[in-house]
Amino acid sequence: MFSKFKDRVNDALAKASKEITEKKLTREDLERVFGDLKISLLQSDVAMETAEEICSDLTDKLEGKEVKRTEAENTIKESFRYTVKNILSVNVPDVVDSIKSSDDVSLVLFLGFNGSGKTSTLVKFASILKNEGFEPVLAAGDTYRAASIEQLEKHGDKLDLKVVKHDYGSDAAAVIYDAMEHAKANDRKVVLADTAGRSHSNTNLMDELKKICRVNSPNWKILVIDSLTGNDSVEQARRFEDAVGVDGVVLTKMDVNEKGGAALSVAHTLGKPILYIGTGQEYEDLETFNPEAISRSILD
Ligand code: GDP
Repeated sequence: MFSKFKDRVNDALAKASKEITEKKLTREDLERVFGDLKISLLQSDVAMETAEEICSDLTDKLEGKEVKRTEAENTIKESFRYTVKNILSVNVPDVVDSIKSSDDVSLVLFLGFNGSGKTSTLVKFASILKNEGFEPVLAAGDTYRAASIEQLEKHGDKLDLKVVKHDYGSDAAAVIYDAMEHAKANDRKVVLADTAGRSHSNTNLMDELKKICRVNSPNWKILVIDSLTGNDSVEQARRFEDAVGVDGVVLTKMDVNEKGGAALSVAHTLGKPILYIGTGQEYEDLETFNPEAISRSILD
């Protein structure tokens, strides 16, 4: 994970450390030596405003410090790791705990563009919940993409979970409403709802999502972002946030992501927690996001 990101950042930090000749770190020196770091971050898909904040945060932290030349690299790296961890640690809530402690049926909505990994993430999360003793109801709320309903049904069969579906082209808000009714009638505690990732020619995707939310009041709106989309991920996240609000993010395909900047950018620019990361195509490949581990995997 993040091999290119790691190489670039390590090189930039090592170079920055070598350029420090004075014992006492001045603001001018630090701003100069972090120029390369900023470029490395941008090349690794970190958004401009995030890269700038990382560099200015580092400068603030290190200004006036006295470091021996031999210790400069370690001091800078330690500060970098701390800054990254802070950016990533936006109050991560525990979705499973919130479902457990609710008396009502919880509705978890998965949002995102086609191909981001929505359906895969939904079924991986269903598998986590099954292991916790729940029997989630799956709602086939993507009524546009060909084969999406069958895809969810296939997983429902494998996991032995009920899938509530209507026909293609039908109203997604109604499918999810029915799934909630089914859950209430059958004493299920949670509904996981898939949604369309692209608009039908006659409807606007965001309008459809707004309607789903209006009708069903989801407890969790989880935005699924393909980490490989790079800098676009910030723009995508903003669109969903503006339309319906996002409670947390899942970043998928982290197993094949060499750059890693998307995680930093989304967490920083949106201020939303990263709940899980997708690390493969199997049910068990959904991991709790660990800012400490990620900030370590970027360096070292
Ligand atoms: P959707 O259109 O958003 O529902 O996307 P899908 O769930 O159908 O996923 C699109 C493709 O990405 C599929 O081939 C998935 O197997 C793959 N995929 C999803 N999540 C991951 C992940 O974390 N890692 C990898 N390597 N592939 C993933």
